[in-house]
Amino acid sequence: MLNQKYPLTWHKKDFSIKIFCSIPNIATGILLRTNKAYFVVDPGDGILRDLNKEIGTKKLLSISDVFITHGHHDHVGGVWALLTYLRVMHKRTPLSIYYPKGCVEIESIYNAFMKVYSASITYKINLKEINDDRNFRSKNVTIKPFPVIHKEFLSDGITTRQVPALGYKFTYNKMKICYGGDTAYCKELVENAKNSDLAIIEAGHDEDTPDDMHMTMSEARSIGETAKEYFMVHVPE
Ligand SMILES: [Zn+2]
Repeated sequence: MLNQKYPLTWHKKDFSIKIFCSIPNIATGILLRTNKAYFVVDPGDGILRDLNKEIGTKKLLSISDVFITHGHHDHVGGVWALLTYLRVMHKRTPLSIYYPKGCVEIESIYNAFMKVYSASITYKINLKEINDDRNFRSKNVTIKPFPVIHKEFLSDGITTRQVPALGYKFTYNKMKICYGGDTAYCKELVENAKNSDLAIIEAGHDEDTPDDMHMTMSEARSIGETAKEYFMVHVPE
């Protein structure tokens, strides 16, 4: 396991990742880079500030793809700020946003953004709803989405329901980064994390007994150790 102090950084040749933050109920924010591409994964609150500091406005405008694992606020809280900033700074190239089918948060943010700024948006937003685990490519990166198990409480605080939730595996020049998002222990994550150059595994459950929302430390570790290197994220503080 690599050092766990944020930001977490990892690189191999020209493939790199920086996890600015991954704190349950607060925020997640991840930047993925190749020599040509800038991707953002789970833009939680603070992502605009962190990206500005890390890459500056010009490169920020060249971000081409945003990947959402699920719609919980700590994973999408920065989407509005990002979209709005790109408009104010006159982004001209298209932006694709990938998200699990049924993620009403992303569709609602998009619809509100289009409503408010319809007359002044300078770039095209391509909403890409993901409904299966087929691979796709962008900027020489192959992306494999995979379903994960992640539940949330309803307002009674007792009943739970599954939320639309994905993990993503990014492959670039045979180098593989697997990010599970928020998930309970599940076979899709086990399979995709195995032999990755880097696995990013959540350990958000702060008890020893497994549940269907997050993983325990030992569950997360058992998956992480099947990858060449791993980060444990989303650990309760
Ligand atoms: Zn979540």
